[in-house]
Amino acid sequence: MHVAIMGAGLAGLSCSVLLEQYGIVPDIYEAQYKIGARFTNGEAIMNILDFPVEDCFSYLEQKYNVRLKPLHPLNSLVIHGPISSALIEGELGYITTRGNHPYALEVQLGDISKAPVFTNTYYTIDDLKEKYDVVVVATGNSNESKRQQIWETDIVANIIGASIRGSFDPNQAQVWLNDDYAPQGYCFLLPYESNIASLCIAVPGTEGVNLEILWQRFLESLHFEINIKDTFTLHSFEIGRNKSLVTENLIFVGNAGGFVMPFLGFGQFTSMLSGFEAAIAIANSNLQSYIVAMQPLVDSYYPSLKMRRVLAGMDNDKYELLIKILQNKVAKTTFSKFPIPILKTVATVLDPLIARNNEIQ
Ligand SMILES: Cc1cc2nc3c(=O)[nH]c(=O)nc-3n(C[C@H](O)[C@H](O)[C@H](O)COP(=O)(O)OP(=O)(O)OC[C@H]3O[C@@H](n4cnc5c(N)ncnc54)[C@H](O)[C@@H]3O)c2cc1C
Repeated sequence: MHVAIMGAGLAGLSCSVLLEQYGIVPDIYEAQYKIGARFTNGEAIMNILDFPVEDCFSYLEQKYNVRLKPLHPLNSLVIHGPISSALIEGELGYITTRGNHPYALEVQLGDISKAPVFTNTYYTIDDLKEKYDVVVVATGNSNESKRQQIWETDIVANIIGASIRGSFDPNQAQVWLNDDYAPQGYCFLLPYESNIASLCIAVPGTEGVNLEILWQRFLESLHFEINIKDTFTLHSFEIGRNKSLVTENLIFVGNAGGFVMPFLGFGQFTSMLSGFEAAIAIANSNLQSYIVAMQPLVDSYYPSLKMRRVLAGMDNDKYELLIKILQNKVAKTTFSKFPIPILKTVATVLDPLIARNNEIQ
């Protein structure tokens, strides 16, 4: 079987690694000059968001026999409201790194895969679909899905961020909820070295978002000295749904398949899962079985979108109220021990707070 994979990111390389376990060696086409050529940053995988999976990395190893190493366990999360802060502790998940870093997840997957990677190669579906039995679309964006007219966008996110130097707790992430510098969005800090962390703002919007002004306001609000190593800006990162995961000999995985969960824009674990499941479907010559395998993730998209809209509908007073709830001992224990049913319940209970649904683009 001849398989082409468009994109040597998390989903594409996961697909390749598993195909190789079945004796199929795909051709991988990567637009960049190497695997992990994008900016380096810290990201998180939170078990709380991937219920019923208790530990994402053990799950990947047990189910797909693929061993990947996160950077550090994530044991504490500080959530800053406009005035006060809450601390949540527990086995929350992991901090990972991405991009041009020796432990970046795509670099680890690239080390396991023995398939040829044709770099500096930007093909479209039309260039490849006649030449291969199956084409795996793993481009990390919605471009190809849009061209096939199977894409619906729910959120357009804009991200501005930097790697900053300093002294950080490698097991702790921080989040800021504040309309003054992250309207309808949030800011976060994720350490990926003991002395380097990613500091970012993610806000929705298609126009009128001045990231530089928000960024300056955010930096001025912080009570520690910021030593910036490098910065990046990402406009119009689309989170949405792919309405047809399989069409003819095409199979869509990762972001291109709509597997970024809207709540916090998390997509690492789901991208790897989709890549692995696509490989199983291809190896069994049953592409439709991929749709069935991905259904639980597709179903979890809507509660996640609802949570996102709840968050986006909140103002500084409501953020402060949320922090007070999170400071409550019972809430803390519940969030760290019994996560997802709580998230879903919260999404439903807070439905009336969704005031600005239609403004989120
Ligand atoms: C700043 C930022 C922070 C994030 N933080 C988190 C987080 O904390 N937790 C989390 O779980 N998720 C996070 N995400 C989301 C997560 O990174 C993505 O969901 C995940 O990387 C998607 O994997 P993918 O394989 O679909 O795409 P990618 O890993 O982006 O790979 C796509 C690859 O395809 C290549 N490509 C594109 N077009 C073509 C083409 N036509 N031909 C060939 N190659 C092509 C690209 O160069 C790239 O290498 C974050 C995203 C960003 C941008």
